[in-house]
Amino acid sequence: MKIFNPATAELITTLEADTAESLSEKIRLLRLGQKEWSATDLAVRITILQRYALLLSKNIEALSAILSSETGKPLQQSVNEIKGACARIDWLTANAEKYLRPEWMVEEGGTKEKIVYEPLGVVANISAWNYPYLVGTNVFIPALLAGNAVLYKPSELASLTGLQIQKYLHEAGVPANVFQAGIGAGDLGEMILEEKLDGYFFTGSYKTGKHIYEKVSKYMVPCGLELGGKDPLYVTDDITDIAAVAAGTADGAFYNNGQSCCSVERIYVHEKVYDAYLDAFLKEVASYQIGLPTEENVYIAALTRKEQVQLLMAQVADAVNKGASVALGGKQLNRAGNYFAPTVLVNVTHDMEVMKEESFGPIIGIMKVSGDEEAVRLMNDTEYGLTASVYSNNQSRAARIEEQLNVGTVYWNCCDRVSAALPWSGRKHSGFGSTLSHAGLRVFTRPKAWHLRG
Ligand code: NAD
Repeated sequence: MKIFNPATAELITTLEADTAESLSEKIRLLRLGQKEWSATDLAVRITILQRYALLLSKNIEALSAILSSETGKPLQQSVNEIKGACARIDWLTANAEKYLRPEWMVEEGGTKEKIVYEPLGVVANISAWNYPYLVGTNVFIPALLAGNAVLYKPSELASLTGLQIQKYLHEAGVPANVFQAGIGAGDLGEMILEEKLDGYFFTGSYKTGKHIYEKVSKYMVPCGLELGGKDPLYVTDDITDIAAVAAGTADGAFYNNGQSCCSVERIYVHEKVYDAYLDAFLKEVASYQIGLPTEENVYIAALTRKEQVQLLMAQVADAVNKGASVALGGKQLNRAGNYFAPTVLVNVTHDMEVMKEESFGPIIGIMKVSGDEEAVRLMNDTEYGLTASVYSNNQSRAARIEEQLNVGTVYWNCCDRVSAALPWSGRKHSGFGSTLSHAGLRVFTRPKAWHLRG
C-alpha cells in the first residue's frame, strides 16, 4: 500500500497490507488474549491506558510530524489533536471505575440485585482519517477499559499513525493479543465484515456506515456508527461583538480544513446583522495563512483526500449555476498537493449541493434569514443530525431554538467541539450509538442482571 504526502504529492513509504489469512490469524490471537485481559483487574487496565497517554505526550513531536505528513494537516493542529486525545483518555480512565464496576441496585431485603458490565468480546474498530487519534480514542480506549480485545483498522490515509498507536499501546502494556491493527483499504474493511466478531464500531461516511450496518446485521451483535454531518450554525440579530462571532464561527468552519465531522457546514444569519457579519467573516477567512503543514502559522494546508478537490469544485459549479456568488476563493490552488482555496459562497439556497451534501472541505455557504422560525426550518432541512449551534446574547432564545433541532449535540455561542464528559452521537444519516461519557464507556459492555437470594 503506497502512502503519499497530500501536501506535496510525494511518496512517503510503502506498507504491506493485511490479507484474509493474516487478518484471520490476528482475530484468532485476539480471541485468545481477550479472556485473560478481561480477567485482569480494571485498575490494572486503567494504569496501562494512562501509560499509553503518557507515551503519546512524551513522543508528541515525532507523532505529530507523522500525522501531518500523511494527512496534510498543519503541524500545530496535529499537536492539538494528540493533546486532545490525551485529555479524553484522562477523562475515560478517571471515570472507568465509576461506570464499569458492578453496581448494586438493591441491597436490602431477601433478594439482592446487581448489574455486572461484561465486555462484548473481540470488537472491530473501522476508523476514519480526519482525526485518527481522537476518533480512535473514542472507541478503542473505552473498549479496552471494558475488557474487550480490539481489531483496529485505521483508515488507509492514516495507516502510519495507526501503526504508531499500536506501537505505543503495546509499549504501555496492552498485550499484543489484545490490540491488533489491520493495515489496508476498503477491501480489508470488507474482509473484517466477513468475520463474525462481537461488535462493530465504525467512524466514517454515511455511505460506508450504511453498508456496514446492513452487512453485519446478520450477526445480531452491537454496531455503532459515527457518521458525517451537514452541521448548521445560526447567528441571531442580538449578538454584539460581531468580529468575535465571525472569527469563532469561521474557525468552526475552516479548522482542519473543514474536515471535521462537526465542522460548521452551513451558516444562517439574521437579516439585521447579515451585512456586518459577512463583512467580518470574509476579512477573517481572507487572513488565513495557506502553506505547507510544516510552515509556521499555517492555518490552511492540504486536504487529505485528492478526490475531495473535485467534489468541492463540483459543489462550487453547481451553486454558481443555480445563482450563488463566490465571495471568496472557489478554486483549486495552483501548486503541488491537494490545495483548495478557502471558499465562501453567498446567495445560496437549499437547492444547491453545498447546502445539502457534506462538503468536508474549506467551503461554506452563508444564507440570510428573516428570523428564528425560518432558521429552525432550514437547520432541520437535512438528512443529517450531528450538531447545530446558535449564537445569541440570550440563552433562553437559543434554548428555544435548539429544543426544536433534531441533532445529537447543540452548542450555544460555540461550535465544532467535543467533550469527553458528554455523549457523542448522531441522528438520522449521522449514525447512532454513542461514544464518550458514561454512555460511551458502557456501550462496549453487555449488562448482566443478577438476582441473588439466600
Ligand atoms: P470512509 O467511509 O470513506 O472510510 C472510513 C473507513 O471505512 C476507512 O477505514 C475505510 O478503509 C473503511 N471502508 C471503506 N469501505 C469499506 C467497506 N466496504 N467495508 C468496510 N470498511 C470500509 O470515511 P472517511 O473518508 O475515512 O472519513 C470521513 C467521513 O467520516 C466523513 O463523512 C466524516 O463526517 C465522518 N466522520 C464522522 C465522525 C463522527 O464522530 N461522527 C468523526 C470523524 C469522521
